[in-house]
Amino acid sequence: MKVIVVGSSHGGYETVRGILAEQPDTEIQWYEKGDFLSFLSCGMQLYLEGVVKDVNSVRYATPEGMRAQGVHVFTRQEITQVDAAKHQVTVHDLAHDTTRTESYDKLVLSVGAVPVNLPVPGNDLKNVYAMRGRDWAIKLKAKTVDPTVQNVVVIGAGYIGVEAAEVFAKAGKHVTLIDMIARPLGLYLDAEFTDRLTETMKANNIYPATGQLVKEFVGHQGAVQQVVTDQGTYPADLVIQTAGIKANTGWLKGVVDLDEKGLVKINDHLETSVADVYAVGDATKVPFAPTDTPQQIALATNARRQGRIAAKNVLGDDVAMPPVSGSSALSVFDYHFASTGIKEGTAERYGVKTASVFVTDTTQPPFVPTEAGNTEVYFKLTYDPASLRVLGAQIMSKRDVTANINAISLAIQGKMTLKDLAYADFFFQPGFDRPWNIMNVAAQKALLAEKQAVTN
Ligand SMILES: Cc1cc2nc3c(=O)[nH]c(=O)nc-3n(C[C@H](O)[C@H](O)[C@H](O)COP(=O)(O)OP(=O)(O)OC[C@H]3O[C@@H](n4cnc5c(N)ncnc54)[C@H](O)[C@@H]3O)c2cc1C
Repeated sequence: MKVIVVGSSHGGYETVRGILAEQPDTEIQWYEKGDFLSFLSCGMQLYLEGVVKDVNSVRYATPEGMRAQGVHVFTRQEITQVDAAKHQVTVHDLAHDTTRTESYDKLVLSVGAVPVNLPVPGNDLKNVYAMRGRDWAIKLKAKTVDPTVQNVVVIGAGYIGVEAAEVFAKAGKHVTLIDMIARPLGLYLDAEFTDRLTETMKANNIYPATGQLVKEFVGHQGAVQQVVTDQGTYPADLVIQTAGIKANTGWLKGVVDLDEKGLVKINDHLETSVADVYAVGDATKVPFAPTDTPQQIALATNARRQGRIAAKNVLGDDVAMPPVSGSSALSVFDYHFASTGIKEGTAERYGVKTASVFVTDTTQPPFVPTEAGNTEVYFKLTYDPASLRVLGAQIMSKRDVTANINAISLAIQGKMTLKDLAYADFFFQPGFDRPWNIMNVAAQKALLAEKQAVTN
């Protein structure tokens, strides 16, 4: 069997890996239109901050390593057309500007997305950047040490925007962080958490300007100088746009069914509307466990899982994509946070009625001194007040307690309720935690609140 995989980031890589793991004698052609195989943007912050020294090491696969496993690797070769009836693709060799056709038995598309370039005047000015992929990583790195860059404006206060802001604040720049939503990281965390993070950001030279719409980039001699919003004007020697992504699917119109956002429509086996063509990654939706509906959640974790499931189906297994909870984690200076599922602040966009409890505790028993690492932890649990089903959670501390969120992710996937979580068995050792894990404490508090609501 011959399989063609398009795209060499998380989804493409995992598809190739999954096929190799189970049927290494499969003929695999793996295409990447860029000149670098398998750059992983997740590692970009570590590179920009100098933790990882070599930009070319931010990858899992090299052409040589994959060729040694029998994979036919093609970089700077773009798939430009699919003839589904003939089971053929058109390949544009960008290095030589030639085209050819290749046949396939199965085709897997992991074409991903590119950052949105805001449709405002001045978006073509010099020093208006994005943060995705190796080329931008190299350009951004140069700006971290450029003395002419003093004022940086980041547009989009999601986790990529916050990573960008932290990189440049640590490089000694004054950073303005603009977003149309009311709070930085507002799609990941509720106000109990973002209020603390906002204070931390301000103390570290990042100034959130949220609830504002960007209207224009103003330049001088072709280079950006200011960002104008509906509420203010901000000086900018560098602008980084991280306000959403757009799927790389324009060329697939009329080939496979796309939704109104240009995402490839897939079923639970990751099959597109066309026989023997599969799609995975940021150009698709994933089944969201809290609502049992498909949602756009652009995460490497999801692309990885889809790639593995696509590989199995390509090889003839019959495997459905398991629902995901949309879990993610990040550090913002001293704080580490993670969240999963639905938050109070996102319940409305999912059309779900929720209730939440917020718990503040210390990570260890009171007798453990602060100097020994005992520190505050904040946790919020969100659930369905009718069924008491666990729908989401957020955690934050200066100690890394983010792994708790993986337990909540499992609880969501397993459709567990507050009653299951309230007395669930979690370990205790005073060097690590308390006899009742904060997840138990929150579920117990929520059950009590629900009981009191019924009695009143
Ligand atoms: C700065 C940053 C940090 C991130 N951090 C995290 C993190 O910590 N955790 C997490 O889970 N997720 C993270 N993500 C999200 C994660 O990177 C994406 O979800 C993931 O890369 C999606 O993988 P993908 O395979 O769908 O597509 P992409 O990564 O978009 O890659 C698609 C690839 O396909 C190639 N391609 C497209 N069209 C064609 C074509 N026609 N022919 C040939 N090649 C083509 C492109 O050149 C590209 O290399 C981060 C993203 C960014 C930008």
